[in-house]
Amino acid sequence: MKKIAIIAVAAFVACSCSKQQIENQTESWSIDRFADIEVLRYEVPGFENLSLKQKTLVYYLTEAALWGRDILWDQNCRYNLRIRQLCEMIFTNYSGSKSDSNWIAFEQYTKQIWFANGIHHHYSSAKFNPKFSKEWFAAQVKTQLGITLNANGELMRAIFDNTYLPIKVNQADGVDVIAQSAGNFYQNLTQTEVEQYYAAAKNSADPNPIMFGLNSQLVKTDTGIVENVWRVGGMYGETIERIVFWLEKASQVAENEQQKASIDKLISFYKSGNLTEFDEYSILWVKDLNSKVEFINGFIESYSDPLGMRGSWESIVNFKDSANTARTELISTNAQWFENNSPIDNRFRKTEVKGVTAKVITAAILAGDSYPSTPIGINLPNSNWIRAQHGSKSVSIDNITAAYDAASAGSGAGAEFMWSNQELNMADKYAHYVDNVHTDLHECLGHASGKLLPGVDPDALKAYGSTLEEARADIFALYYMADPKLVELGVMPNAEAYKAGYYQQMMNGLMTQLVRILPGDNIEEAHMRNRALIAYWTLERAQKDVAENGGLPAVEFARRDGKTFVKINNYDKLRSYFGELLGELQRIKSEGDYEAGRNLVETYGVKVDTALHNEVLKRYQSLNLAPYRGFVNPRYVAVRNDSGDIIDVKIVYGENYVNQMLRYSKNYSVMAQ
Ligand code: ZN
Repeated sequence: MKKIAIIAVAAFVACSCSKQQIENQTESWSIDRFADIEVLRYEVPGFENLSLKQKTLVYYLTEAALWGRDILWDQNCRYNLRIRQLCEMIFTNYSGSKSDSNWIAFEQYTKQIWFANGIHHHYSSAKFNPKFSKEWFAAQVKTQLGITLNANGELMRAIFDNTYLPIKVNQADGVDVIAQSAGNFYQNLTQTEVEQYYAAAKNSADPNPIMFGLNSQLVKTDTGIVENVWRVGGMYGETIERIVFWLEKASQVAENEQQKASIDKLISFYKSGNLTEFDEYSILWVKDLNSKVEFINGFIESYSDPLGMRGSWESIVNFKDSANTARTELISTNAQWFENNSPIDNRFRKTEVKGVTAKVITAAILAGDSYPSTPIGINLPNSNWIRAQHGSKSVSIDNITAAYDAASAGSGAGAEFMWSNQELNMADKYAHYVDNVHTDLHECLGHASGKLLPGVDPDALKAYGSTLEEARADIFALYYMADPKLVELGVMPNAEAYKAGYYQQMMNGLMTQLVRILPGDNIEEAHMRNRALIAYWTLERAQKDVAENGGLPAVEFARRDGKTFVKINNYDKLRSYFGELLGELQRIKSEGDYEAGRNLVETYGVKVDTALHNEVLKRYQSLNLAPYRGFVNPRYVAVRNDSGDIIDVKIVYGENYVNQMLRYSKNYSVMAQ
């Protein structure tokens, strides 16, 4: 709910975060490719500049992060750890031919379950369908472990029988989502039983409710329904002890008292399992604003529970990216200037605008449910009353988006879909940078700008509200990214860079985002509707301009080599159209003009041109890009003196995907069964 995820398919822009990063790289960003997955590496710029104490803190926190891996595997399905153990045993000891078709299929399967932290796909949640034979697998287990597997036993069924535990999270309409989901959060229970259990436990009058069910497995036994709480001394206790061991070390090198208090509270929560302590921890975490190093570690997001209660274990350790955060602060401290100069009717202007501060971070380690597939932003905590009373923290992870962008630069997508080398070069130089500025303007100012006229219902735009709101924030960002003020503030490098953002918006909104739509479908998702709305409204506006005043259209579809492209002829005019649309979107919101809002969305944001759609799908397919991407982590190595004190922490890159997975299983596992 609060995570910002990236879908690899959307990464269209050929660009290269910073030139230096590209030129200095010694190995490719892409380090493995199998099934529908591409594995990338990421860098941790700035780690060397941390103080020894901060580096030590990062080191302890990364150890605490890596220890939680097996919890997630077990949460995802109760057979996962045993299957992983068998597969790794075969993987390591196999001595047969590597060109044997069973081996090839087995190698892919093992890589897939590593990536998914279990036998179900990380995104679709459908069980993998192995292409090696049951007999081959049983023979390998027999030769290497001396174990005879029961051909029809549960373990073999979990791997080979696609009618058994077919889907991890089943939320289909009309099914019993508990009984029909393969995750390990519930046992012997029906959806009704679970709902009744929590209906009885919850007190709807409590204004500050705990996150019910967040840290336990719910099981029906002969004597009733029990919660197996995940804590020291409880379920996953041995693993949680290891996490606590490293958190206790981290507490000793905390940067300040506020941070220490939050780490200590997290430790206390891991020991007690008491969810009131988790809320207390979350409040301390929100208030920790001065630490350079930060982390999340625990049962956080609940996407894997069909009822959205139980938290999958995850951890991300990070530190503040001061240079990029300075940019977001520059933008938010000038919020009033942007509001005063916005091309909207004076009646809709805010007299006093407060920018929302967001932080840019550098990830140091990804773990649990954030590894290898990871979000590019985080907005926590999830508890609604804590957000309302104590606030929340929003971060974007720059080194991860930089790695995505750098990897996309070599994908060929830019060359396939951009009009000429001019657009390609612009994207290469500025797209990652402009993307970040766009996000800042959208998040820190766009949503916060403008006001409703007195008496206007904030929900007046109903089902069109979220598309129109995203469009308003996006068009605000587009209008301002071309403003000389940004160059003056030092937010934009020069007066040309915004053009990369304009081209990307028009190409994506008019064409390339269609790769995410199935043939025959309309555009449904709010962000995609908003991008189409802006692009198609602007295209039509340009045609109208030509009809009235002659000349070239500012933007048009053009054909080359039998293919369709977007061509921009006049960026200044494009900006003036964006200004007009911003004025209109603000009017619609401020007045609550439902009919006009509905008309905009339905006319420009929903429909798909079938011929163009088919063409885009075909061209995209020919690029053979992996739909999903994830990462391997760097290694952190503590350098100690003779008395065992840490005198430095080195960061080591270059470990490959297979070795990392095998090392994690070997060094961070006490749950093998
Ligand atoms: Zn938004």
